[in-house]
Amino acid sequence: MTTEKFAVIGHPIEHSKSPLIHQAFARQFGKTMTYEKLLAPLDGFAATIKQLQLEGYRGVNVTVPFKFEAFEVSQTLSERATAAGAVNTLSFQGGHISGDNTDGCGLVNDILKHWQRTIDGQKVLLLGAGGAAQGVILPLLAQQPAVLTVANRSLDKAQAMVDCFKADAQLHQVSLTVQTFDELSEGYDVVINATSAGLQAEALPVSDTIFYAHSLAYDMMYGRETLFMQQAHAAGAQVADGLGMLVEQAAEAFYLWHGVRPETAPVIQSLRLS
Ligand code: NDP
Repeated sequence: MTTEKFAVIGHPIEHSKSPLIHQAFARQFGKTMTYEKLLAPLDGFAATIKQLQLEGYRGVNVTVPFKFEAFEVSQTLSERATAAGAVNTLSFQGGHISGDNTDGCGLVNDILKHWQRTIDGQKVLLLGAGGAAQGVILPLLAQQPAVLTVANRSLDKAQAMVDCFKADAQLHQVSLTVQTFDELSEGYDVVINATSAGLQAEALPVSDTIFYAHSLAYDMMYGRETLFMQQAHAAGAQVADGLGMLVEQAAEAFYLWHGVRPETAPVIQSLRLS
């Protein structure tokens, strides 16, 4: 039997933990596969994908800055990839390319399974309106929070994003609204930071009153304590980073490719210790 080939593709890519995660999953099932990190040239994503197909790869994960290009090269798209407008998982089958987006499902699964929080009936605040925020809205709405408020530095971007999800919000009976950072004052049960402010070590201009003692403050960033996490911690909230989301989105991609669901808790634990 030939060894199945997978990869994660981005620019830069050296930092990626995806090979470690996927190989840890594969060991759980006694599977042998290859999973590499591939640096694609910034202007050569589509050509790289074509080459990988020719070389017999089964699928690739896609990271910054290629998630929109991965959307474009996909011949069929899942509902969640369409809603996200971006693809992080490509599957190749007989020359056909299918695109999916597992980021939102990764976030929701991490919150429910590892932080043991419910979203159903809760007040949820989503900070940011970039690719990551757009990718998590539909999976969050499907959990039927009572309220989903979106706030972003550029309000028009948040409004345009939310407008695309009005029908889904109605379907799930969620009050979906947009606010500026300044307008936020009430406390939320779950506050999700999907901005990249942490990458630039910048604080978000949000009031401490958005957190209360039982809030979960979830930063999609991992690998360092951001100013958002520090603020939430000081305000008494429970604080989570995005490592569990990373592992859970990988688990969903693993399921798409291999049809089996790996255990995620031991993988998250070993990454935290490494
Ligand atoms: P984008 O570049 O698409 O969006 C960035 C967002 O951050 C925009 O809403 C932008 O606001 C906002 N922003 C940037 N700088 C600031 C600032 N200084 N103050 C306030 N708002 C700011 O990035 P992504 O959506 O792809 O990624 C966002 C974060 O999510 C990153 O940190 C990324 O690492 C993380 N992520 C984590 C994943 C995981 O598995 N854990 C998966 C995917 C992403 P504006 O619109 O005004 O420019």
